[in-house]
Parts: sequence; structure tokens; C-alpha cells
Amino acid sequence: MSTNAVDSKTAGVRNERLVIELLRSEGGLSQAEICENIGLGSSTISYIVGRLREKSLIVERPGQSSKRGAKPILIDINPAGQFIVGTEINPSYILTGLFDFRSELVDQIKVSLDSGHSVENVVHLLEVNIKGLLSKNDISQDKLTGVGMTLSGSISSKGVVQLSSPMGWKNVPLKELLRQKFDCSVNIYTTKVRLLAEMNTQPVLSSKNIVYLNVGNGVGTTVIIDGRLIHGSTNRCGELGHIVIDSNGPVCGCGRRGCLEAHISGPAIAKKIKEDLAAGTSSILSESLTEQDASEDTAEKWKQAIADSDEYAIRLCEFVADKLSRAAAIAINLYDPDMFILAGYISMVCSEYFIERIKNRFETDVYDEPSRNIEVITARSGQQALIRGVAVAVLQEQLKLE
Ligand SMILES: [Zn+2]
Repeated sequence: MSTNAVDSKTAGVRNERLVIELLRSEGGLSQAEICENIGLGSSTISYIVGRLREKSLIVERPGQSSKRGAKPILIDINPAGQFIVGTEINPSYILTGLFDFRSELVDQIKVSLDSGHSVENVVHLLEVNIKGLLSKNDISQDKLTGVGMTLSGSISSKGVVQLSSPMGWKNVPLKELLRQKFDCSVNIYTTKVRLLAEMNTQPVLSSKNIVYLNVGNGVGTTVIIDGRLIHGSTNRCGELGHIVIDSNGPVCGCGRRGCLEAHISGPAIAKKIKEDLAAGTSSILSESLTEQDASEDTAEKWKQAIADSDEYAIRLCEFVADKLSRAAAIAINLYDPDMFILAGYISMVCSEYFIERIKNRFETDVYDEPSRNIEVITARSGQQALIRGVAVAVLQEQLKLE
């Protein structure tokens, strides 16, 4: 093939992706509007639309015309044109979501990992779950164009899980193992993809400088500056979870003492509640909590206890707000964002109080705070944040313009 032929093929793929991107964000456009938006001639757009029609990636319907004459044909993304799978692997469960070409969740399956964390077991469950979801929804495997996974840990660009302490994995070639099971692209992501889900849910965020703090099993931070995800030299940019808040505090998973994570992560709070109750603190939580409760259950019961005006439950909010707001102020001084997003249990348990305390702390601890305009909001992408974020990352990868 001549260089020119390669160039024109690349340009063709690029133009096709541009049209798909446009239709995914706008939708319902006539060919003339597509030409205008992309700046290509009508014959080129006609050709691209024809190719997308052949691949069943678009649907067409008559639109409304304000003037007399033929109604324009409006072109839209065909949600059933392609499907993507996004999976969250964590020590308690595997959550797998099937997403359509619009990134809408079609169906999901959650299985517990009581059967063990061995790589063989997890890969087997992933294969069974994904193929099961496809067949349950009558979707053939050739419609599946991408599979993405996320888990807590450090992940190489080749999809090797170098270290995942929660899963007890070291140097696991997860991408390669899964590629043997699926005839489509496979990618492994860090949990930073959460923020992509948030941006997908709240498109207004796409132009912001954002610090996104997720408090779940650990404390993770994602930073977007000038619209770009910041990784750092070892992928650890924004490790707010390991800022030492109190050097006499509890021992952290990282081996040091008093990190933010050791104070306010879900498991840290669950542990603190147990210890406080065992030491004789009076609270209605002593009746509702059980040994089997995961940290998510504890957060739910804590929230209920606050609603019931339990004094201890309210004091616990003050404890978290104090640590959280100190870390938030440090993040503002470091990254200069215009938006701070709270995610995880802190977005579900007394979030308004946390937001108020964070804003108060900004007034005292943030340099030149009056001249800044920092919004503090809670995440909206909910329980599906990780699988949705993975699905968005997979699609972005597929539509990437070289
Ligand atoms: Zn730590």
C-alpha cells in the first residue's frame, strides 16, 4: 500500500471518529449540520454516513422542518450499534456493567468474592459474568468492542497489575489473561476513571480544574488541571490519602502512622466505631451494628443514627469533617482547582455539613481565598461510578484521534 493510501485510510478513520464523537455529544443532526460542525464537504460526510450506516452505528429518522419543503433526515448514534463492558474488581465483589454505544448502562451483575481472590478464580468469574450478561441481553459477542476493568493498585501501561494490596496481587498480567478470553480490546485502568464517570454524568464539569476526593475502602484523589488528568511520574499524583494528619494517629495500610486514610476511610471509621463502642461510648449504633457489616453497611447505619439525632453519630461527623477539611485546604493550595468534589461515603453521610466545614476551613487555611471562587459539590455518579468511568475510558480509547 502506498503512503498516500495509508494516509487517506487514516484520515478516513479519523473523520469517522469525528462524526461519531459529534453525534454522541449532540445527536439528532442533519447531514448539513454535520458538515457545518466538522468542516468537511457534503460528499465526504455522505460517504462517512454511508459507512456508519453499513456498520449499524447510526439510526436515521425524519426531523421537523420549520420551512415548507422536505423534512431533513436526522442522524443519531445507534445505542445498540456497539457494546462495552466496564468492571470493578474489589476485595468484596466483582461488579460488571454492560453499556451501550451511548454509554448508558443496559444491565449489570454483582457477584461476591467469597470464593477467593486467586487470579484464576477472578478471571474465571469475569469470563462467566461478561459472557452471561451478553447472552442474557441477546447480544452477540461481535457487538462487544471493548472490555475494561478497574481495581485499586498500580497498573503498568501494558495492563499488568504490578501491585494491588487489597487483592493481594503482584505482577499479574491481567490484560493478557483476559485477551485470551475475548475477541475485542481489553484495558485495565486505575480507579482514577471515577472522575470520567462524573464528567459523563455532569457534562458541565468538562472544562474545570477539579480535585476529586473519593473516600471508600481507601482515600483516593484524582486531579484534573486545564482539562487534563494529571498522573505524575509514578502515577501517584494527588495522594491526599497519605498526607499525615496526626503523627500519633492510627497505623495506615502504607505502614506509616496517622495518614488521612487511616483516620477517615470506610474501614477506618468502621473500626473506630467498634473501638469506641467497646470502650463504653453510648450510641444507638451499638444495637444496629453487626460483626458481618461491611464498611458500606456501617456508613448506612451511621447515616440513620444521625437522622435519629444520635449524639455519638453526630460527633463522628465532626471528627471526619476536621480531618477532611484540613486535607481539602492543602489540596486547594497545591492544585488551585475551581471545583472540589466529594465522593464515596462522605458524599452520602451528612455531605452538607462536610461541605460547610470544608468551606469554613478554606477561609482560614487557603492562601488568598477571597480572590478564588471554589465550588464544593458532591459526586452524582453513585454506586456505578467505577464501571461507568471504565466504560467512558474504553470508548475514549476507541474514539481517540491519532
Ligand atoms: Zn498512609
